[in-house]
Amino acid sequence: NFSVSVPVRSKDELGELAQSIQSLANELNYLKKERNEFLASISHELRTPLTYIKGYADIARRKDLDIPERTQYLEIIHEESKRLNSLLDELFNIARMDVNTFTISKETVPLSSFLQSVYEKVLPAFTNKNIQLNLECKDNLFMDIDPSRFEQVLLNLLDNALKYSNEYTVTTIKATESIGSISISIIDQGVGIPRADIPHVFDRLYRVEKSRARATGGFGLGLSIVKQLVEVQGGTISVKSSIEQGTCFTIIFKEKKNEDSSSS
Ligand code: ADP
Repeated sequence: NFSVSVPVRSKDELGELAQSIQSLANELNYLKKERNEFLASISHELRTPLTYIKGYADIARRKDLDIPERTQYLEIIHEESKRLNSLLDELFNIARMDVNTFTISKETVPLSSFLQSVYEKVLPAFTNKNIQLNLECKDNLFMDIDPSRFEQVLLNLLDNALKYSNEYTVTTIKATESIGSISISIIDQGVGIPRADIPHVFDRLYRVEKSRARATGGFGLGLSIVKQLVEVQGGTISVKSSIEQGTCFTIIFKEKKNEDSSSS
């Protein structure tokens, strides 16, 4: 731990400096604790698929196995390797964002055509699960964003809406404008998030129900990445949800007034 001893309590500059050093030390200790917890969870996440892989590889090597059984075990090994791979991809993304080697290049994007292309990309997956997908967006809204990063954000939120909704429900992508800002919401009629879990869903590796998340293939990293991506682009993200009713994630950005349309 970073131990500092700064007993100066005077009300002058020296006292202020002592106080700053103290709070800096507290902050460093907090970060160190957070990092250790993160590493512990990650090790756990990596170990789980590896345990399956090793276990099933040991069985699959047995000479007395029938072909169908061996095929089944190899299938599990294959699935778990894919899981390991996507976890590593997500970790790599986080690491890049943390060291700030990660560049964003913003441009002025017309929202309705941008959302339309995202909509078309995800529509088949929704249709496949018999979930209706709607898009509501006015023309002539512009935002300053990095299109590929922002697409990553929306695809992540839509993937969650799909994962956590049952068939014959509706998911809506909705963009609205209010004074100086634009909100984009992804609204689903899925399983919802329990009230106690809502404050934690943007935390790294947080999953509402580990068994449910494992069945749907999540690591609890998606939303922490989404939040970071929204914030580096200057936006905010929030969530409202009620259990069995559905969930609404809202992203708010400053509106970019299009010079062409304002000057004409
Ligand atoms: P995961 O990869 O597990 O989906 P996320 O970081 O994307 O991880 O989400 C964290 C947790 O928040 C999920 O495990 C899930 O329980 C909950 N969650 C996220 N989006 C939704 C949603 N649209 N509806 C219900 N629960 C959700």
